[in-house]
Amino acid sequence: MSRVYNFSAGPSCLPLEVLERAGAEITDYKGSGQSVMEMSHRSAVYLDIFNKTKADFIELLGIPDEYDVLFMQGGATFQFAAVPLNLMGENGSADYANTGNFANLAAKEAKKYGTINIAASSEDRNHTYIPAQSALKLNPDASYFYYCANNTIYGTEWKYVPETGGVPIVTDMSSNICSKPIDVSKYGVIFAGVQKNLAPAGMAVVIVRRDLLGREIKLTPKIMSYKVVSEKESMDNTPPCYTIYMLGLVLEWLKKQGGLAGIEQYNAEKAKLLYDYLDESKLFRGCADREARSAMNATFVTGDEARDKEFISFAKGKGLINLAGHRSVGGMRASIYNAMPIEGVKTLVEAMKTFEGTV
Ligand SMILES: *Cc1c(COP(=O)(O)O)cnc(C)c1O
Repeated sequence: MSRVYNFSAGPSCLPLEVLERAGAEITDYKGSGQSVMEMSHRSAVYLDIFNKTKADFIELLGIPDEYDVLFMQGGATFQFAAVPLNLMGENGSADYANTGNFANLAAKEAKKYGTINIAASSEDRNHTYIPAQSALKLNPDASYFYYCANNTIYGTEWKYVPETGGVPIVTDMSSNICSKPIDVSKYGVIFAGVQKNLAPAGMAVVIVRRDLLGREIKLTPKIMSYKVVSEKESMDNTPPCYTIYMLGLVLEWLKKQGGLAGIEQYNAEKAKLLYDYLDESKLFRGCADREARSAMNATFVTGDEARDKEFISFAKGKGLINLAGHRSVGGMRASIYNAMPIEGVKTLVEAMKTFEGTV
């Protein structure tokens, strides 16, 4: 079997062990005589999978009782609308930090439902940094404060949770969920599309503080209401059953890696390997400010677009794929999510060194 090292930003690589287990169970899940894909979502055999997945997620993240976990289709982008619909209130307002493409898209979507205040922006330096707490212009009457915890395209990550004086915090953790331990009690809502760090595409996980349920504006589609989804235990309609099963397998794998503290250490080791090389290289340089560097998405350039392209195809020849930066920024991006083995990062750094030696 030949596998590449896949640095795609999403959908992204999954642990080999998880894929092999899913493969082994594909036609007959634990003697049930069926594939998980074929099961009724109301059947006992499927409900066991569902309940264990949800319980493992709660355990891994240490989610307190005051929060519910929702599995919702539509990915992270669906949440860009669901958040204001559920939390803004009629004629309400919200604060958004614009630290990149996805935060900006979320703010634009929210504008349809109320007044948006851009509390901070990193646009002046092409989103290469994260604004400091002192730079946040927060409205104490906002319905919520929104930020994107890891900026997948620009390779920056918030290293602190903002202080909002009681205004609920909503955060998009699509590209760093479960990459490290977090204190869930600091947030009102955490959401994440699962296709970066958790599962195949097709779903978002939403962690919502229960006192925020039931605030949706009247025109909110039933399928988007956090309250309805919570009451119906994520089964108001057919859930993405197979994606949830895969999420369950990934969470079991994560527990074997020492949980979130264990994976954080492994991720830090991988990121250090790559960033240390970027700092010493005379050809490549990292795009993000050092203090803001993401442990999940490393963006870098040579400063010469043609040479960037040369490197991307050179790396591809060595089985290192999807290293091109997002189409809006160019350059290179190595997404080194939980499932990227350290061997993949070592191979990448070796390839960069070899390439540097040839130019
Ligand atoms: C990938 C990504 C999204 C978009 O996710 P979809 O599931 O495709 O809607 C949103 N936010 C962040 C931070 C992302 O990385």
